[in-house]
Amino acid sequence: MIEDRFGLENDEGAAGLYMGSVTQGMFGGGFLYTNRDTLSVGLVLGIHQLASNDHGLDAPSLMESFTGRPEIRRFIKGGELKEYSAHIISEAGIGTMPKLVAGGMLIAGDAAGFALNLGLTVRGMEFAIASGVMAAETAIEALNQNDTSATTLSGYEKRLRESFVLPDMETFRNAREVLDRQRLFTVYPRFICELFDELFTIDDGPKEGLYASAKRVAKKYVLNIDTIKDLLAARKL
Ligand SMILES: Cc1cc2nc3c(=O)[nH]c(=O)nc-3n(C[C@H](O)[C@H](O)[C@H](O)COP(=O)(O)OP(=O)(O)OC[C@H]3O[C@@H](n4cnc5c(N)ncnc54)[C@H](O)[C@@H]3O)c2cc1C
Repeated sequence: MIEDRFGLENDEGAAGLYMGSVTQGMFGGGFLYTNRDTLSVGLVLGIHQLASNDHGLDAPSLMESFTGRPEIRRFIKGGELKEYSAHIISEAGIGTMPKLVAGGMLIAGDAAGFALNLGLTVRGMEFAIASGVMAAETAIEALNQNDTSATTLSGYEKRLRESFVLPDMETFRNAREVLDRQRLFTVYPRFICELFDELFTIDDGPKEGLYASAKRVAKKYVLNIDTIKDLLAARKL
């Protein structure tokens, strides 16, 4: 039972997000979501890095090592594979958004490029649902008027601008550029892991003060000019 395995009750679900060594330094991260009777387990990877093959890694092998990790393996153990697929997430942002309206045509959801990867979350479903509803409302109005020209359908863009869809796409227009900073997927995960390792490990020797430990690890990874550059870039998020 999924509930027992994840310690859930009633209608609760669980979502796990993983970053760091799961992508071996590449842009992206792993996820494990509970559904009602199934689990969704996967990786989101930067297609540019996969295609350039600089890391010599392919998506299926990364997936194998991800599902083999103890923190994932224990949740999927004994499970049956129901579906295995790959899908492109359009994360290029508002800068590459296609024309949304033409005579007799409205573009919504992923096809319109309405997806955002903010590192912490991948967003696309709410944009797809909202833009789908607005496209349908616009289409109904146009059909009632017996006029599906681009001019009549342009009300769709107005609806999108007045909702959260286009404003959010605009607010996070630079997300892609910020997340392209490789240190986010290498240096910072290593820093956080080593920091917690140092703080929580108690061995048989005398223990250094917590501040001194934290400063030593921070000095190794993040007390440098590159972190300042990353922080400056992060202001665009
Ligand atoms: C691995 C992964 C993780 C994600 N995680 C999240 C998340 O945590 N949160 C979130 O909000 N979003 C997430 N997304 C993004 C989200 O799934 C999409 O943004 C959303 O599903 C887009 O909905 P859509 O209806 O536009 O497109 P889709 O869901 O892709 O639906 C398009 C449908 O059209 C069908 N189709 C295609 N061509 C044809 C054709 N010629 N004829 C008939 N049918 C056709 C397809 O089979 C598909 O069913 C994730 C995406 C991926 C790939």
